[in-house]
Amino acid sequence: MTAPIVRFAPSPTGRIHIGNARTALLNYLFAKRGGGQFILRYDDTDLERSTREFADGIATDINWLGIKPDHVIRQSERFDLYDEAANRLRAMGKLYACYETEEELERKRKRQAARHLPPVYDRAALKLTDEEKAAFEAEGRKPHWRYLLDDRSVTWTDLVRGPSHVESASLSDPVLIRADGSYLYTLPSVVDDIAMGVTHVIRGEDHVTNTGVQIQIFETLSGSSPQFGHHNLLTNASGEGLSKRLGHFSIASLREVDMEPMAVASLAVLVGSSEAVRAVPSMDELGALVDLSRLSRAPAKFDEHELDGLNARLLHQLPFADVSARLAKLGISAHEAFWLAVRGNLARLGDAAQWADIVAGLIKRPDGLDADFLKSALECLPSEPWDHETWGAWTTKVKEATLRKGKDLFMPLRLALTGLEHGPELKLLLPLIGEQQARLRLA
Ligand code: GLU
Repeated sequence: MTAPIVRFAPSPTGRIHIGNARTALLNYLFAKRGGGQFILRYDDTDLERSTREFADGIATDINWLGIKPDHVIRQSERFDLYDEAANRLRAMGKLYACYETEEELERKRKRQAARHLPPVYDRAALKLTDEEKAAFEAEGRKPHWRYLLDDRSVTWTDLVRGPSHVESASLSDPVLIRADGSYLYTLPSVVDDIAMGVTHVIRGEDHVTNTGVQIQIFETLSGSSPQFGHHNLLTNASGEGLSKRLGHFSIASLREVDMEPMAVASLAVLVGSSEAVRAVPSMDELGALVDLSRLSRAPAKFDEHELDGLNARLLHQLPFADVSARLAKLGISAHEAFWLAVRGNLARLGDAAQWADIVAGLIKRPDGLDADFLKSALECLPSEPWDHETWGAWTTKVKEATLRKGKDLFMPLRLALTGLEHGPELKLLLPLIGEQQARLRLA
């Protein structure tokens, strides 16, 4: 197989959500696994709703997820290509001018409904004479342009769904160009896919019908079409579709609450796949788990609570090298021993700040600790140098001196040293706190 070329094609009319991220990641992992390329294409032909801020935000979001596009293109800079393709289609008789107003089309649909017919456009415009067209134009009407579909079954072998087909006879000829001259998504997408040599179009299953139409346009313009894969969509926990407009689970919001990108990527990719959902630490490992042909056909539920658990599990296994720069950015002074001591107690990376403070001495010791017990413990405390054996050796001595054991022995020490009932293993924490601080806290 030649190396795949794929694209992720968001319209920059909002920020991307976890479902869009699923599409981006499935494309990226597919391309990288095949040694191929990933194109970020902004579908910004809607000049009113698309903004540069949203486009830049989407780039930030996918970079954060670990996706590095090989090329970035903007449809708003490529209208010449679309005009040229439209002219070719007109010359071939595949793109025809229509003059119906929205109200007239609505009336046609109502008449069809009354006769129990499907609401398929009747191609009345194909029969217009030049005089009739001139009369419409004289009235001030501007044409919109429809693609003349072949009435046939369009078939393809879907990378996810296997053998697939769309019956074109049950579809209206799609409008490619509106009366105001603007392009709908259908044609520019095909033109760019051809121009960029896209080999695989991987997108949500809400695009299956588009694929039936677009394969016809691909074949008309270039004689062949790419392969297609339509993945299942993500819903929220109660089964409702996600909305970019409503800002559901935006990648930006997950980043703001300090989620790990690989936790988000792991869930976005593995939910609704044949693999158990788990926190995968790297893109390469995640890529090795993705098999489009084994994605579920049913919609997959995205549960943010599951994300919390994955995030914690991911942090618990991350090496210091992967987090040191981010800890520094969060203003947390850390070194490897500190990280290895505290990582198992973190739900979010930022929680490490609390433990840095505690190690540094910013603790609030609870009232009511047994002063006599702590005095004995202090007397047993060995001198530095300390290592991971120190805690065990010290508490054995305290146990002998005070005859306490279990929780009665350990809890007051933990409370005195950290101010909290729970936390990292004290055998790891004690050497970080150090003798001087420990003595102050026990006194
Ligand atoms: N802009 C389209 C969308 O966001 C792209 C669909 C496609 O991948 O072709 O739905």
